[in-house]
Amino acid sequence: MAWRMITHRCGHQERINVDGPYVIVEQRVRRAEETLCTSCTGIQSRRSNRLDGFCELWGSRSQCDRAEPIRRRVLAQVTVLARHARIEDRDAFDELRKQVLRRDDAEWWLEHRTDAITILAQDIEL
Ligand SMILES: [Zn+2]
Repeated sequence: MAWRMITHRCGHQERINVDGPYVIVEQRVRRAEETLCTSCTGIQSRRSNRLDGFCELWGSRSQCDRAEPIRRRVLAQVTVLARHARIEDRDAFDELRKQVLRRDDAEWWLEHRTDAITILAQDIEL
């Protein structure tokens, strides 16, 4: 296997595999150079999680990685719903938002990738 050292946008270096057709390899190299390394990506996403108020997820690394975009999508949906909610429902939506931020079980998010809002809403009588 052929390898090349590349420098990520964050300045960290990584050895990447350069086997394969030239065009594909060039694309892979360019993408790697334009992005942060895995460790900086993790730090950045944990930091933005704290800013958004998300709790730490627990589960295996791969569960957490897959659960992360799901709960972000759900929070975005709740935000949109809340914006269109009637005044008297605002408190309930605030509560729903808190539930999304607090749910820390990665496996739960994977299980409820499509019906998370429904399940959480059942508990707060929306
Ligand atoms: Zn880095």
